[in-house]
Amino acid sequence: MADIVIPAELLPTDGRFGCGPSKIRGAQLESLVTRGATILGTSHRQKPVKDLVGSVRQGLADLFQIPDGYEVVLGNGGSTAFWDAAAFGLVERRAENLSFGEFGSKFAKAVRTPWLEAPHVVEAPGGSLAALEPIEGVDVYAYPHNETSTGVMAPVVRAAGDDGALTVVDATSAAGGAAFDVSATDVYYFAPQKNFASDGGLWLALFSPAALERVERIAASDRYVPEFLSLKNAVDNSRLDQTLNTPALATLLMLDDQVRWINQSGGLAWADTRTKTSSSTIYDWAEASDYATPFVTVPEHRSQVVATIDLDDSIDAKAVAATLRANGIVDTEPYRKLGRNQLRVATFTAIDPDDVAKLVRAIDHVVDALRG
Ligand SMILES: *Cc1c(COP(=O)(O)O)cnc(C)c1O
Repeated sequence: MADIVIPAELLPTDGRFGCGPSKIRGAQLESLVTRGATILGTSHRQKPVKDLVGSVRQGLADLFQIPDGYEVVLGNGGSTAFWDAAAFGLVERRAENLSFGEFGSKFAKAVRTPWLEAPHVVEAPGGSLAALEPIEGVDVYAYPHNETSTGVMAPVVRAAGDDGALTVVDATSAAGGAAFDVSATDVYYFAPQKNFASDGGLWLALFSPAALERVERIAASDRYVPEFLSLKNAVDNSRLDQTLNTPALATLLMLDDQVRWINQSGGLAWADTRTKTSSSTIYDWAEASDYATPFVTVPEHRSQVVATIDLDDSIDAKAVAATLRANGIVDTEPYRKLGRNQLRVATFTAIDPDDVAKLVRAIDHVVDALRG
């Protein structure tokens, strides 16, 4: 199997198809060396780094065309840290969590705390989508925009719950790759290692006025909140283009570069078309193939940024992914806990649709060779 050689004309220009960390464009790395030369290794409390953080915040505000009163907030620790920060500083009494994959279920666990009522969790099996259920007394409705572990995408809609209930969307793998209605969300949070083609370790979020008010109110209450997980702290620091503690400057630089690139290329509408082109290439190929099938059966639920493709049992998907890897096409393995005979391919904004077209032909080549 290791000696199956994929012909050069079927090899993508860039072989990175992982769901995070994901492909970083060459121009971003070059800018680390050029623009980074004056910023890397300098104090994050001085103007050059504040300007960089300011540029990221403004660039995201432009990209998402945030409505009046919304703010771009950031903090250290990635989306996983944001779940704990939200349990401390965003959920007042009770959350509802949609759990239709690994990431939604992790946030549902994070809001099981001694100071909150047990969450209302709506579960759906991997590959399908759970629906919001309005419940009296729920003050945060939480769901992933894109469930990266299964390749299911949810419509971004506001929950029709109690007055003042917040809609909190995990957009870690969707943000920057899919168009949506910002005003339907109160918190739209993400991390830079997916469509934003940077490194991890940071969380960013669009906060609505209602969410900012909630943060202030809980911070003023007598609830204990650890300093590092304080959203009030993150909001206050973000307004000064700062973070509580030292951020990774290289992460900010590559993120800023990607946001500029998307904005200059045509913004979110452009990115949305590009990821739809790439993902359609994969789904159309799988539907036509005699050995591959989209894992997500309902076409409207299929993700435009993470395509999950089941292979016929007669073909070992692990062997296919390993052969691709030996040929420089990496990270097409499925989410480890899903346990399916599957390939998972990111079609993030940085990934060239032409490379996706080559990838499916490369997969066909490998499967033909494995079948002998
Ligand atoms: C990758 C991912 C996360 C985890 O992000 P970290 O920054 O590693 O904590 C959370 N949610 C979704 C939907 C993801 O894709």
